[in-house]
Amino acid sequence: NAPAETRKFEAEVAQVLHLVTHSLYSHKEIFLRELISNASDACDKLRFESIARPELLAGEGELHIDVSYDEKARTVTVRDNGIGMSREEVVANLGTIASSGTRRFLEAMSAEQKADARLIGQFGVGFYSAFVVADRVTVLTRRAGTAAGEGVKWESDGKGEYALETVELPERGTAVVLHLKADEDDFLKGWQLRSLIRKYSDHVAFPIRMPREKDGKPTDEWETVNDASALWTKPKSEIGDEDYQSFYKSLGHDFNDALAWTHNRVEGNQSYTTLLYIPSQPPFDLMMGARDERKGLKLYIKRVFIMDAAEELLPSYLRFVRGVVDADDLPLNVSREILQHNRQLERIKAACVKRVLDLIEKLAKDEPEKFATFWKAFGNTLKEGVVEDHANRERIAKLLRFASTRGEGARQVVSLDDYIGRMAVGQDTIWYITADSHAAAAGSPQLEAFKAKGIEVLLMSDRIDEWMLGSLTEYAGKKLRNVAKGELPLDEADRKKQEEAAKAAEPLLKKLKELLGERVSEVKVSARLTDSPSCLALSDYEMAPHLARLLREAGH
Ligand code: ADP
Ligand code: MG
Repeated sequence: NAPAETRKFEAEVAQVLHLVTHSLYSHKEIFLRELISNASDACDKLRFESIARPELLAGEGELHIDVSYDEKARTVTVRDNGIGMSREEVVANLGTIASSGTRRFLEAMSAEQKADARLIGQFGVGFYSAFVVADRVTVLTRRAGTAAGEGVKWESDGKGEYALETVELPERGTAVVLHLKADEDDFLKGWQLRSLIRKYSDHVAFPIRMPREKDGKPTDEWETVNDASALWTKPKSEIGDEDYQSFYKSLGHDFNDALAWTHNRVEGNQSYTTLLYIPSQPPFDLMMGARDERKGLKLYIKRVFIMDAAEELLPSYLRFVRGVVDADDLPLNVSREILQHNRQLERIKAACVKRVLDLIEKLAKDEPEKFATFWKAFGNTLKEGVVEDHANRERIAKLLRFASTRGEGARQVVSLDDYIGRMAVGQDTIWYITADSHAAAAGSPQLEAFKAKGIEVLLMSDRIDEWMLGSLTEYAGKKLRNVAKGELPLDEADRKKQEEAAKAAEPLLKKLKELLGERVSEVKVSARLTDSPSCLALSDYEMAPHLARLLREAGH
């Protein structure tokens, strides 16, 4: 048998412990949410593994999570009868940084140099949050399917070392015992723990039980304190907005209310339920999401949690969406490899995209304020869809909003349909300008001729715009064109005036070309300007200057 021993935490764990215990001080109660969420994950894992090995469920019956407290010993205990951990797993999971979320948390914290609560809420800081309220934590755990003698006791004061011992444990699963710090007596009250469970963990799909109380003292009898139902399986008519919001928060990664959601049940030769949310704020690492592992969409099959499948179920440009997909007809032993080439899943994915676009359209139509919030948070992410999702390009383009020479300053409120609705008779082009900043776009001399003629120009200054425009050359039968490129549309009178001006200016043009030499390809008389004497222009096939600069910066 493995001997008792003392080990050091991996250096990064010590760092996380320090950050978490110091920065979570004003949100210390979330330790309970984190421990319950781990217990629930452990029950999910056991249920999943028991599909192939039913014998793992032997012994204690129904999966559940028990929260109890002991006033004398000053402990709070969270116990589950889930999968449990072997000695190796304890070392790997509690002694090193097991979760990629925690790793990213650490990176973000060191980058920000400050640990604000908003940031913390998005990560899920996990097991180590126990040390915010406890000065000693004991974990007793036994892996499902192993013998009673193979239990493990892990103990630490969270200061750099932990002790490990093999112990006898009658039941599988994990108990986390928190020895509370001197001033944390609040958590030794039943009503306090109950209200925290209802606040943060009501929608955990397993029963969370606490000892029934009599005359303010805990008894030996257990009662379930959470709702313990899979919310998405209930009929919509039975779910209130508050239920949706608290379920959203139980999905993790966000303390704030969701902006909007869409809940649908599809019945047919393929049946499934989707409950998809749009957050009201972008997460810290949204822009990294494309290359990072993506989280936030949970795949269930017949109410059994299978895996986080955001990458399989949502295209990258909708990576801000959170929620649940529950499919009835997929095999329970499905793997990620199978999912990647599964036709049924392809269809569910297409349905998710459609539901989300429907939802955003509905916001645009009926709830302008919410839509504005959405656009501010996720507009630039959605723009990626113009490039990536050919099938839905027109739908996505319809949702785009821009600043414009006829809009409200820098605010992005003008849609392509608004623009088309205001076009002059005979105008067949949607004009835009791109620049590094809104001020540079709005102040560009390129706009003078358009202003003089009363033609609206969209002002684009987001980094992604130029890339997106490469895929958005037409909308509703109208060409999109950069004002800085090629010939301007001139009427007869203009053309004549320009020809005359060009003739008169010939000697000047020749002189300028000589002076500028290789730096320009041509010097021309232009109809673009009304006030400024000169400007730089591009031919039709040239790259816009700030795209050229972006590419140079990227090393091309
Ligand atoms: P995360 O839950 O994001 O993976 P945590 O810090 O909360 O990160 O937990 C670290 C790891 O410890 C988990 O991934 C899991 O493997 C293990 N673990 C924690 N609590 C339990 C538990 N109650 N039962 C089984 N394993 C657990
Ligand atoms: Mg966790």
